[in-house]
Amino acid sequence: MSILKLVFATNNNNKVKEIQALIGEKINILSLKDVNCLEELPETSTTLEGNAIQKATYLFDNYHLNCFADDTGLLVDSLNGEPGVYSARYAGEQKNSEDNMDLLLTNLKPHNNRNAKFQTVIALIINGQQHTFRGEVKGVISKTKSGKDGFGYDPIFIPNGYNISFSEMSLEEKNKISHRGIATRKLLDFLKSL
Ligand code: IMP
Repeated sequence: MSILKLVFATNNNNKVKEIQALIGEKINILSLKDVNCLEELPETSTTLEGNAIQKATYLFDNYHLNCFADDTGLLVDSLNGEPGVYSARYAGEQKNSEDNMDLLLTNLKPHNNRNAKFQTVIALIINGQQHTFRGEVKGVISKTKSGKDGFGYDPIFIPNGYNISFSEMSLEEKNKISHRGIATRKLLDFLKSL
């Protein structure tokens, strides 16, 4: 596979780190900053897929570069799939992870069923063609936060088959089973097939 340049349409450095670790040096990932895109990307859809496509399309239309965008949500069964597509701003526009986790723990208190899943959709636009890739991991929401690595809801998400949170795992361990890891490997397989 020849070296390919792809812009990852995110301002979240944690995500860039996670994806770069999976992709290795085979693909040159550029950040939004690298292409001088400093504006906020539109993200107004009511679905993860819609948001991922919206962000990638915005970047492609305005910068004419091969690119991909992702959107992730945490869907909690007892809360009818909330916070879902609104995971980033669950507790308000400040998009604060501690506030989001606190609100989720409070809202889950009356429920015995703590099953949840992370879902990621990646939208790729390459040579003007759009493709989407999905990843999902199931688990439970713990009653308290644990661990100090990762980001977002990691300290309260325990993937099925484990007794530690995403936040207590190494990045490598998390990537093996995570929603984004699964979606990214599908993206990579596709890129290798080009
Ligand atoms: P985004 O819209 O894809 O950036 O993600 C929506 C929300 O889900 C944000 O609050 C993130 O912190 C959270 N999130 C996304 N991916 C993960 C993850 O791998 N672990 C924990 N939280 C995540």
